[in-house]
Amino acid sequence: MKKTIIVVVSLLILAGVARLSFKLPAFQNLALDVLGQGFVQQAARSLPESDALRVFVCGSASPLGMTDQAQACIAVLTPEHFYVIDSGAGSMRNITGAGLPTRRIQGVLLTHFHSDHIAELYELNLNSWIQGRPEPLMVFGPEGVGEVVDAVNAGYRQDRLYRSEHHGAALLPPALGVLKHHSIEPGIVIEDGALTVTAYVAGHAPVHPAVGYRIDYQGRSVVISGDSNVTADTRRVVVGADLLLHDALSVPVVTNLSEAAADAGLARISKIMSDVLDYHASAASVVELGQNADIGMVAFYHLVPAPPNVLVEEIFQRGFPSNYLLAEDGMWFELPVGSDDIKVIRP
Ligand SMILES: [Zn+2]
Ligand SMILES: [Zn+2]
Repeated sequence: MKKTIIVVVSLLILAGVARLSFKLPAFQNLALDVLGQGFVQQAARSLPESDALRVFVCGSASPLGMTDQAQACIAVLTPEHFYVIDSGAGSMRNITGAGLPTRRIQGVLLTHFHSDHIAELYELNLNSWIQGRPEPLMVFGPEGVGEVVDAVNAGYRQDRLYRSEHHGAALLPPALGVLKHHSIEPGIVIEDGALTVTAYVAGHAPVHPAVGYRIDYQGRSVVISGDSNVTADTRRVVVGADLLLHDALSVPVVTNLSEAAADAGLARISKIMSDVLDYHASAASVVELGQNADIGMVAFYHLVPAPPNVLVEEIFQRGFPSNYLLAEDGMWFELPVGSDDIKVIRP
């Protein structure tokens, strides 16, 4: 007992000394040097060199926010490629936090235009523009993408003018701050060297059109569902995929929330909760999908809701096969070329 008290008191004294040192200019200057080195290293970072298809979870949550996880965003990288699928709220923080070289970004692929998939389009545009992206940022998406991109460009026109004027047009060329768009149809939408992106029709009614994407690179592949039920198109596109990142809703949790809201007299909230049940894949339906398809690994993202605690995580994972997991912000999947390995790197 006496020993424990001595240890606790010592730790408190150490914490107090550390906190006091924050007030010393010499200590502050040392910390600034370290901070500056980290900033420079991050700005100079390039795409990963070893030959692999890499998938980074820059947003794992849905609008049903019960945690601080970002909304839908998945980045796909190879030594030569960098595409981002959706750009939900909070995702830019994860992209910069991971030190992804945004000046190398080649495009954003939108699955549809719900706010939780487009909220940080301009943040991604701005960050990559400042980092020195050499071409305008291209936004791919189904019909309607032009309306979204034109509105973002118009809404931030003044922001671009201020920044170009402040830093100089040579450093921030105005034309590179304006998003471009490209309307896509289901089928192959990008063939970029060894990387192919194929769009497929998602089941997210009444949202039309909505798509998911399959990305193939040197024999490795990832399917990203966006918001979708499991449909015949899903079953077709996942055949032989190494990794499937799928939208997932926990029916027991959302049903319970809807009933709790009704019991509390919150009829509007209860109705909205029960409405979302029909346009996201239930976790059970994605488990069933995996039982009938040859998929290497399945990671649930766009979690409805993102679990606020371990108990809800466990409810979400009911009936999970061993190759299933819940994605979280900051998670990496590494799929080396010439192998079947899928390495999961947790944040
Ligand atoms: Zn949606
Ligand atoms: Zn969504």
